Amino acid sequence: MKNLLIPILSFLFFSAAAQKTLEKQNIFIITIDGFRWQEVFKGADSAFIHNPDLVMDTSLIARQYWDENQEVRRQKLMPFLWSVIAKQGQLYGNRDLNNKVNMTNLYKISYPGYNEILTGHTNLKFNPNLPVQNKSTNILEFLNSQEDYKGKVAAFSSWNIFPFILNEKRSNLPVNSGYEMLDETEDSNNVIINKVQQSVVKQTNTRYDMLTYASAREYIEHNHPKATFIGFGETDEYAHRDKYDLYLQKANQIDRFMADLWYYVQTDPFYKGKTTLIITTDHGRGKKASTWHKHGFFTKGSGDTWLALLGQGILPGGEIKSEQQVYTKQIAQTVASILDFKFKANHSVSEAMSLPLNVVIEKLINNPVSDKQPLLISIQK
Ligand SMILES: [Zn+2]
Repeated sequence: MKNLLIPILSFLFFSAAAQKTLEKQNIFIITIDGFRWQEVFKGADSAFIHNPDLVMDTSLIARQYWDENQEVRRQKLMPFLWSVIAKQGQLYGNRDLNNKVNMTNLYKISYPGYNEILTGHTNLKFNPNLPVQNKSTNILEFLNSQEDYKGKVAAFSSWNIFPFILNEKRSNLPVNSGYEMLDETEDSNNVIINKVQQSVVKQTNTRYDMLTYASAREYIEHNHPKATFIGFGETDEYAHRDKYDLYLQKANQIDRFMADLWYYVQTDPFYKGKTTLIITTDHGRGKKASTWHKHGFFTKGSGDTWLALLGQGILPGGEIKSEQQVYTKQIAQTVASILDFKFKANHSVSEAMSLPLNVVIEKLINNPVSDKQPLLISIQK
């Protein structure tokens, strides 16, 4: 029976894969700086959340994010991720199940991490977290050079180094980063957002994520970009300050931004049914209470990341539980393949990731959520 099942199901899978390239035309790439896989899959860490050195009000933060049950706990921290993406999309990187996502650069800091995500290429040369123009071509720039996407690509980030990572000067991409002012068009709320940006008392290299999201959301509604990058940064900021409570609060806030964005996307005729969301991080961090605040070459766990996908053509694999190794440098070509392109650059580009067929099918049979349910069930019988 199994032997008969495979070719039929393979056909279904490839039909879906072929269909997706026709349907999916828009992409959002979202990054959450230095947000660990441990919190994504296990929720708040038991070794940190009750520690008064890392959390100002341990009882209040526990009320918000703690539960003995890991599944309840992770849902409390990232409700959109676990109620929508884990049901309709795919989540990679639960290392407790040997499903791994990794960076391949040696340095495990942000610039090399984002470079890997966006160019599909690991730079052997060290790029410090400084305003240095990136020589490598990125996927947004590539899309912006394609006929259907020209002038329809945009990037927003909290961290003010992105104009250099994306080489705004060469790539000509519109990149709004840090406390950079927005164009004040009459029909948008950008005047208000700019006033707030100018009034922020302690401006650092990382803008409030709330302002980054408001800026991106406004642009998306008014311009309908076909490829959008949104880079959130406050999770890493609070982690470095050893403030686990605020790290959790920021992650939870980003989860709500993603829920808001996805709801908008699914109810807007331009995006509805033609859009994919890819969410990931630029690096991991230390595993212990004494090391979680840092990341880098010498900090174990810094190369361990995760990846989430949601969209019309992404089959509902949920939390991928099979043994597997995915690399962050595969994301750029994966984005290209979703949009039916082959990403070519002035450097080598890693191949796109492949979906684990067996896991997807197993999930479909056990938890049917699509219109393929009756067909699969009848095949089973
Ligand atoms: Zn950092």
